[in-house]
Amino acid sequence: VKERGRDGYLLYSAEMEEVAQHSLFIQSELRGAIAEKQLSLVYQPIVDCRGLVVCVEALLRWNHPQMGNIPPSTFIPLAEGSGLIEELGEWVLLEACAFINTLQETGVLLDAVAINVSARQFNQGEFAEDLLKVLHRLGIKPNAIELELTEYALLTNLDVVKQAMDKLRQAGISIAIDDFGTGYSSLSYLQSLPLSRLKLDASFVSKIDVNESSNAIVKAIIDMAHGLNLNVVAEGVETQTQYEFLLQHGCDSFQGYLFSRPLKQADIVNYIESVAVN
Ligand code: C2E
Ligand code: CA
Ligand code: CA
Ligand code: CA
Repeated sequence: VKERGRDGYLLYSAEMEEVAQHSLFIQSELRGAIAEKQLSLVYQPIVDCRGLVVCVEALLRWNHPQMGNIPPSTFIPLAEGSGLIEELGEWVLLEACAFINTLQETGVLLDAVAINVSARQFNQGEFAEDLLKVLHRLGIKPNAIELELTEYALLTNLDVVKQAMDKLRQAGISIAIDDFGTGYSSLSYLQSLPLSRLKLDASFVSKIDVNESSNAIVKAIIDMAHGLNLNVVAEGVETQTQYEFLLQHGCDSFQGYLFSRPLKQADIVNYIESVAVN
């Protein structure tokens, strides 16, 4: 049985069983993570062509007492699958709002703090109303928030999506399409939805100067976005070569390890202030 299991069906199903068990375990641990204060937000700067921080993206971290840091790419999909994403999303929103208030008290000026919203969260009936209520209650101006949505959020009824987005946009919240270029939806939504920004996916950025066709795609996306009056943020900028190419082709802002990794609250405030002075 062992021999057969080495590369055969038996091992495969045992592995699948293990993965499923592990997922269930993580899901049940995640349920307690908020109450146990195991979650935190880190913030990554998005800089303009002068290196000034125009925006920061809030990114969720989970530090489990036994398992250590569990990456969001592992637990966000599990949260989406188990209905925990609403609770998690609400926690992220409240935490980011507290940070926005701290920034205001410190006198730090940013265009916005960007928050990731999962498709499942966004497609909940009352998302826009609930969000605006929370902001009102906390005294946060809606224009201090930018929402990052992937194209998956647009795959359902486009009329419903548009209604929610119009409501958010009218209130002053800006909306960015995250991971642009990796989704499967048709591009026609770019014309009909009230978007502010495209985030050029890191997979394109990482191929800059690797081959001509990658360069052509990057250029085409930037030009198309500008033609539609959308800003472009390049994600995952890691090298000077990538940065210079993007700059040269009119990309509006930049995010990636070349500038900074995501930072804890106190460190991001220091970062924003230090680049502002230099
Ligand atoms: P994302 O929204 O595309 O976020 C960018 C990811 O790229 C982050 O990974 C960030 O740490 C990483 N990154 C930034 N610069 C670089 C770089 O130069 N090189 C490389 N290799 N990576 C870079 P992270 O924090 O692990 O988050 C992964 C994904 O998890 C996010 O992708 C987002 O889809 C999701 N996520 C994170 N926080 C939240 C949240 O609060 N809510 C929801 N719904 N999703 C979240
Ligand atoms: Ca994002
Ligand atoms: Ca992204
Ligand atoms: Ca991504």
